[in-house]
Amino acid sequence: MGERGFIVGSQLHTSLQQALLGWYYQHKRNLPWRGETEAYRILLSEVLLQQTRVEQAIPYYHRFLAVFPSLAALAQAELEAVLRVWQGAGYYARARHLHRLAQTVSELPSTYSALLELPGLGPYTAAAVASIAFGEPVAAVDGNVRRMLSRWMAWEAPSPKQLQAKADELLAPEAPGDWNQAMMELGATVCLPQTPRCERCPVAWFCRGKAEPGRYPTPKKRVQTPVEAVALVWVGPDGLYLERREGRLLGGLWGVPVEEGAGALERLLQRLGLERAERVGTVQHAFTHRKLRVQVYRVPGNGLGDAGNRPLSRLDRKILELAQADLLPCG
Ligand code: SF4
Repeated sequence: MGERGFIVGSQLHTSLQQALLGWYYQHKRNLPWRGETEAYRILLSEVLLQQTRVEQAIPYYHRFLAVFPSLAALAQAELEAVLRVWQGAGYYARARHLHRLAQTVSELPSTYSALLELPGLGPYTAAAVASIAFGEPVAAVDGNVRRMLSRWMAWEAPSPKQLQAKADELLAPEAPGDWNQAMMELGATVCLPQTPRCERCPVAWFCRGKAEPGRYPTPKKRVQTPVEAVALVWVGPDGLYLERREGRLLGGLWGVPVEEGAGALERLLQRLGLERAERVGTVQHAFTHRKLRVQVYRVPGNGLGDAGNRPLSRLDRKILELAQADLLPCG
């Protein structure tokens, strides 16, 4: 019975692999990193795609490679130059990690376990690079794959371990890179989070959850209360006053001074030796795990100056746009 069960299971997996890979080879989108075998380029595309939509990632991919065509070129660059190229793509920790990684190794290692040791590389990215660039049979599990596997198996709340084990079991061992990309492609174009297109899904016959895809996995309820902060826009004697940010979120970028919590405005004024500021408006900004509601103040005076060529975060650009709009004459 055990042997019989194994044979049936194995045939099922082969059919699944053939169906998904066949669909992928026929329907995959023509993206600049498709067919790429150079690990550095694959790494860059995967890092960009972690938090950025494909359409937005493409120009950044080209722009980044034009300035830093190799790991060695990236290693030699100043962090600020890297952040400037990354400017606007958001989630700047990705750029900082890439830069640190380039300064750590002269070439990317070829195994999943060694890739996992590098700064900023989690299991998903390490598996994507190991499988696509080096053909190692390891499954890359991100949010898309989690959603698809949960639907395939009708799992409401699978653990990461359970998902990784199932993903590794189903992986096409002779074409692991293509398989991982096929999974990503299906999740991005067919098995969509809100409205899966089951009628055009090449593996619908394998999917136990297709009658109620919204049930699998159980949607997470996440209520985020915004953190209150105050930002101060000040044109001092040397122009627009900017500070170099520290910390995980925006470290390395430049921005206007910001303080969080009670008494934030008073602390800001005191820190900068200023007496008063006038309120301009509010800016909301969402990071991955955090929302900010920023009350923007401006020190009265003429004009705003500009940031020169210093890299600014999207949050700071929103703040400066608001302060700039406040200066424009009405009507
Ligand atoms: S049948 Fe529907 S829910 Fe199942 S994998 Fe395909 S698109 Fe997703």
